[in-house]
Amino acid sequence: MTARSGLTYKSRVTSTAPTTASGQTVELDVAIVGAGPAGAAAALALGGRGLRVGLIEKAVPPRYKTCGGGVLRRAVALLPLDVRAVVERECHVAEFVHHGPPMRFACGREQPIVSMVMRDRFDHLITTAAVQAGAQLFTGTTVREVTLGADHVTLATGAGEFRVRFVIAADGAASVVAKQTGRPELRGVFPAFECEATFAADAMAPLLRAARFDFGLVPAGYGWVFPKRGHLSIGVGTTVRGAANLPQHYRRYLEVLGLGTPLHEERHGYLIPCRPRDGMFGAHRVLFAGDAAGLADPVTAEGITAGILSGQLAARAILAGEFAEAAVKRCYRAALEQTLLGELRIARWLAWVFYECPRLRTVLLKRHGQRMTELMTKIVTGETTYSAAMRRPGNYLRLFRGGA
Ligand SMILES: Cc1cc2nc3c(=O)[nH]c(=O)nc-3n(C[C@H](O)[C@H](O)[C@H](O)COP(=O)(O)OP(=O)(O)OC[C@H]3O[C@@H](n4cnc5c(N)ncnc54)[C@H](O)[C@@H]3O)c2cc1C
Repeated sequence: MTARSGLTYKSRVTSTAPTTASGQTVELDVAIVGAGPAGAAAALALGGRGLRVGLIEKAVPPRYKTCGGGVLRRAVALLPLDVRAVVERECHVAEFVHHGPPMRFACGREQPIVSMVMRDRFDHLITTAAVQAGAQLFTGTTVREVTLGADHVTLATGAGEFRVRFVIAADGAASVVAKQTGRPELRGVFPAFECEATFAADAMAPLLRAARFDFGLVPAGYGWVFPKRGHLSIGVGTTVRGAANLPQHYRRYLEVLGLGTPLHEERHGYLIPCRPRDGMFGAHRVLFAGDAAGLADPVTAEGITAGILSGQLAARAILAGEFAEAAVKRCYRAALEQTLLGELRIARWLAWVFYECPRLRTVLLKRHGQRMTELMTKIVTGETTYSAAMRRPGNYLRLFRGGA
């Protein structure tokens, strides 16, 4: 460990707390705020080019993150890493259960559809790879203030100051960088409540095989069961902000699952931002990625894919634009538009049909439940995309016309 300017620079990822004595300013080419999937993937993508890259994280990794830890195959495919060491369980089956009226659909694949992880180990794996690729990791370092200059950005932290040429803000849904740079609040957030819970082995056994999603229990939302090595991550989420009593829906969900009383249970709640942040391209020399940019999928409320992808695109845009602000932003906007933003527009429309129009959803599922399950499975595995599916009018015209 090398102490530089009062900030603690860790050449290896350890869980030692940093010193917090304030010191001189650390100069970086790129500062990435937040070592979640978005920030760590960005740092990894910038590695090996001789740039001074700093990954600034308020926690000391590995840290718990409220998340189902369901990493879809399309997310795994984006990473230049073997993630198997941190996968607790591979789910080759996705099960969709509808309540009122009861319906059940399942899809299977030879390759895993969802790799189940605990986020502390998953994020730590990517962070470690980024450090090995040359990033400096500053842990226990919270960015508090952001000052935008003409050709640089200053980040003030509890442990000292950074002066940097570009910032990638990957500091999650409650982004301090967004607040500090005057970006509007996120809209379209999906409140979610989740428990890491252990039950009697025979009660858990039937739920260990598949990634399970339940619709029709939580208003305008869904419940999920993600099996881990020795426990279940069980959660409920909704598109209705503030109105739903999620802990109550969770209790009811446990009853429906017939799991009995948990032997152990840790409860967590947080927001998943499912609408791109307004004004995200407006802050000088700052690119927003992942949840800080509001890029989670509105249908699945899954944000790891978009986090990794947007972090990588932000990193590549800085390289392609050679640190010239206008060129970097142009590259980032174009890359996001080509990959994620169009996808999210379609997904938002589908989410509206699915969550806000329960009668229509029931009709569609009754007629085409298996086909819809198959299509969603293709999308989350990366076999197709929302836009590719929509470009084939047969797909959705059949749904609405009721063809077989
Ligand atoms: C209950 C729940 C279940 C979910 N389940 C899934 C799922 O199964 N699959 C899926 O794909 N997605 C899931 N999501 C969404 C997913 O967790 C997020 O979309 C994803 O974590 C976004 O990654 P990120 O890197 O943008 O942000 P984060 O993972 O939130 O990482 C942000 C990082 O920034 C750090 N940070 C924050 N502020 C500062 C600061 N001021 N200074 C320095 N560091 C800072 C934080 O400590 C954190 O490490 C779920 C979310 C919730 C709430």
